[in-house]
Amino acid sequence: MFNNLSRPIRIAGPCSAETENQVIETAQRLAATGKVDIFRAGIWKPRTRPGAFEGIGTKGLPWLQKVQQMTGLPVAVEVAKASHVELCLEFGIDVLWIGARTTVNPFAVQEIADALRGVDIPVLLKNPINPDLSLWLGGMERLQHAGLRRLGAIHRGFSFAGEKIYRNRPQWQIAIDFKTAMPGIPMINDPSHICGRRDILHKVAQKAMDLNFDGLMIESHITPDEAWSDAAQQITPEVYGQLIDQLVLRDIDPHNIREKSTLDRLRKQIDMIDDEIMNILASRMKIAREIGQYKKEHNMTILQSERWIEVLQKYLQRGEQNGLSPEFITRIIKSIHDESIEQQEKVMNGEIGL
Ligand code: PEP
Ligand code: MN
Repeated sequence: MFNNLSRPIRIAGPCSAETENQVIETAQRLAATGKVDIFRAGIWKPRTRPGAFEGIGTKGLPWLQKVQQMTGLPVAVEVAKASHVELCLEFGIDVLWIGARTTVNPFAVQEIADALRGVDIPVLLKNPINPDLSLWLGGMERLQHAGLRRLGAIHRGFSFAGEKIYRNRPQWQIAIDFKTAMPGIPMINDPSHICGRRDILHKVAQKAMDLNFDGLMIESHITPDEAWSDAAQQITPEVYGQLIDQLVLRDIDPHNIREKSTLDRLRKQIDMIDDEIMNILASRMKIAREIGQYKKEHNMTILQSERWIEVLQKYLQRGEQNGLSPEFITRIIKSIHDESIEQQEKVMNGEIGL
C-alpha cells in the first residue's frame, strides 16, 4: 500500500469516530477534496484523564466499512492491544496505527506484534510520548520481527513540561535520526498532535515536507469545535483541502550536488536547534518575570549574589565537560542573567505584566 502511493501519503479523518453520520460525512467531504489517500478515525481513544470520551468502540467499525464502500478509501484505526487488532482484522480495516501512549510500552507493542504475526497489513508506529529514539526504533523492530513488511513511522511530537507553543514539542531531530537509522521506513508527520491548535498546522506540515518526510496525518472533522476529542486542532475537510493545496513540494536535491545537500542538512539541523534555543529562552524569561512578581510581593531584592555565583560556577563546570570555553559560557550566562534581571525589574516597576 505505501509503495504505490504517491508522495506525500495523505491520511486524514477525525480524531475520533463519534456518530455514523459524522464519520460518513467527514469521509465523503474529504474524498471530495481528492487529496486524501487513507481515511483515519479513532475507535478506542487512549485519553490522558479518565472521564474524557474514550472512543465509540466496536460499534464504530461498521461505519468504517461503509466509508470503504462509499468512498473507496482505505481506512485506518488505532490499536492498543491484541483484542483491538483482532476486531480490526475481523472488520477488514486496511491500515493500523499504534498510538504514542502505546509505543512507550514494549509489552503492549509486543502484544500487538504477536497478534499480527503472519498477517500482511500496513502498520504505522507513532513516536513515544517521551523523546526516546531507541524506544521508537525498538517498537519498529518488534513489528519487523513479527514479519510485518509494510511499516511506517508517525512523528507526532513529544510531551514536554512547560512547552508553550506546541501541544507536543516537535524535536525534529529525533524524527530525522529515526529516518537515518531506518531509511526504508516512510516517515509521516502528524501536525495535528504536534500543534494542538489549528493556526500553525500549515507551518508544521510545510516543514515536514521541506525535511523530505513521506506523508502527513491530519485530523479533520465536519464541525471541529464540537468534536468530542481534540477539538482545538481539527479542521474541516475543506480547510484540510486548502492546507494540502498550499503546501510547496520541493525537489529533494535538484542539482544533485552532494556537498550542497550535506551543507543544507547541517544548516537545517542548526536552524532546528536555534529554534529550540529561542523557545527555551522565551520559557526562561517567562519564569524570570514570575520570579520578579514573587520578589515584588515579598519585597525582596532582585540580585541575590550567592545564587548568581552558584549558577555561574555550575555552568562553567558543565561547559568545561562539554568543551565550551569559560569565556563563552560566562558571556552567554551573563547575558541571559542580565536580560532576566531587566525583565524582573520591569515586572517590579509595573512596566510589563507576566
Ligand atoms: C490520535 O491520533 O488521535 C492520537 C490519540 O494520537 P497520539 O497517539 O499521537 O496521541
Ligand atoms: Mn487526536
